[in-house]
Amino acid sequence: MRILLVEDEPKIANFIKQSLEAEYFAVDVAEDGEQGSHLAHINEYDLIILDNLLPKKEGIEVLREVRTSGITTPILILSVTNEALKKVDLLNTGADDYLTKPFVLSELLARVRALLRRPKPIESDMFTIGDLVLDAKKYTVRRGKKDIYLTRKEFMLLHYLMQNEGTVLSRGMILEHVWDMNTDIFSNTIESHMLSLRKKIGDSGKSRIIQTVPSRGYKIGV
Ligand code: CA
Repeated sequence: MRILLVEDEPKIANFIKQSLEAEYFAVDVAEDGEQGSHLAHINEYDLIILDNLLPKKEGIEVLREVRTSGITTPILILSVTNEALKKVDLLNTGADDYLTKPFVLSELLARVRALLRRPKPIESDMFTIGDLVLDAKKYTVRRGKKDIYLTRKEFMLLHYLMQNEGTVLSRGMILEHVWDMNTDIFSNTIESHMLSLRKKIGDSGKSRIIQTVPSRGYKIGV
């Protein structure tokens, strides 16, 4: 899952970015409204966290531009307490939720999870393919009776594949959802992570569940 965070205060931005990364999200940070709007238009995000008071372009302006462009990504607005009237405008303009500053981390994470669940209410946190089971809430992976220990990126990669079981995912889609914008797209990042992921889950011979689809990408399924 990839999140765009638009926040001009470096301390808050870093704190949120690190907290979300610890929860296995990939996070891009934009430091002002203009950059935020630009990134929201060129990349495909699963969620946008948008501060309302921003230099160059206000949050509500960014929100309006994004929604006018037909981008339906869930948007969580961060606003300060005395902006009560604006909250109504924000929701009317297409924000999905808002959080008042200062907030506690657990509340931010709870709202992020709720928004990410919203379009797919039936989806659970457990993904099963054959004897491979991934628990997205506990961050655990098992194959048969064996616990498998994955790095953060390997886990995110497997999670993304399992969420899209049976669908071919291109390198571009994988990069968009699992890596952040600082990734060198010409490096063999995906291949090397895929290789170690396959090794760890014992993906070979008859147990193979991740298929490489030549010149198209990867697909998971039995
Ligand atoms: Ca601000």
